[in-house]
Amino acid sequence: MKILTEKNLKTFLKSAEADYNVRVPINLHDGTRALGKIDEGSLAIAGGVIPQKITNVFFPQMETILTIDSEKVELPKPSVKPLLVIGFTAQDADCLEFIDRFYSEDYRDDIYFNKRDGAVIVCVSGRCGNDGEFLKIAGEKCDLELICDGQNYLLAAYTDAGKALAENADGANADDSVIQQLQKESDSLPADDLELIQAASKLLLEEKVPEEFWATISDRCIACTSCNLVCPTCTCFDIFDRKTDSKVQRWRMWDSCQLDGFMREASGHNPMGKENIRTRRRIHHKLAADVTRWGQLTCMLCGRCDDVCPTGIGIKAVCREMVDKYGSA
Ligand code: SF4
Ligand code: SF4
Repeated sequence: MKILTEKNLKTFLKSAEADYNVRVPINLHDGTRALGKIDEGSLAIAGGVIPQKITNVFFPQMETILTIDSEKVELPKPSVKPLLVIGFTAQDADCLEFIDRFYSEDYRDDIYFNKRDGAVIVCVSGRCGNDGEFLKIAGEKCDLELICDGQNYLLAAYTDAGKALAENADGANADDSVIQQLQKESDSLPADDLELIQAASKLLLEEKVPEEFWATISDRCIACTSCNLVCPTCTCFDIFDRKTDSKVQRWRMWDSCQLDGFMREASGHNPMGKENIRTRRRIHHKLAADVTRWGQLTCMLCGRCDDVCPTGIGIKAVCREMVDKYGSA
């Protein structure tokens, strides 16, 4: 395994641009971090979870899904170069694994896989989280991994695509004892949050959470939709048509289950017309309905909704309150 300085890392990523559309965490002018092209800002690999929904590289907020003119119907074509995306955490890799399932089982979504097929996923882990937090090592959930030892990055390659890329990296060989120590730190990270959402999931599946609970939580929701917009496993979208010159384009755009119009039908009937029902859905969907539908929790604890919710009712906060109130019922 090679060890790369930040300078070597930048050179390595630049060289990957010959074969890939490279997206890296960069610093924006307002001081926040986001995915961008290498030359669009200074590299910001360290710093923990990237605030934006990282799966948006494959499922963007808005995109054309077909174009119709008088002669033909055209579908979007795959881009010439596949994506190489740096900045996934181990939890983000779990989120991606789920939405790969979502977009491929029963019906394969070609628009999604136009971008996803051939893409190289690079996780970032180790001693480079926000405020010194240790980020869990993802291992074989990704193609390549940058594991920070506090200063430099160990480059771990897991798949053929990852190994082919790693061969081009310039760096010294890492000491085995450093790798073992980092793995030990990763393995000893607490699992409290997972236990918390598992306990909340059990309460929901056993129907032990009364409607009054959702009323008290939804009273604190201002329907800003941020929780949905940042969540890497939120997959709901709306469809609309736009006429431009002689063409009609069909677009899809992220939707939010926290909005009144989310399920409103043309007749005016709205099965989710009350705030408490919508708030319940946001949590119940990921911790109970998806357990039944997909056989797994679909919150991977990336932390984004708790970070972004202006009123403090991200999923972990709600689960904590739920388990405190009904956990012994
Ligand atoms: S922590 Fe929140 S944003 Fe992240 S996967 Fe879970 S529900 Fe989605
Ligand atoms: S981020 Fe918080 S306030 Fe905004 S819609 Fe989600 S739960 Fe409501």
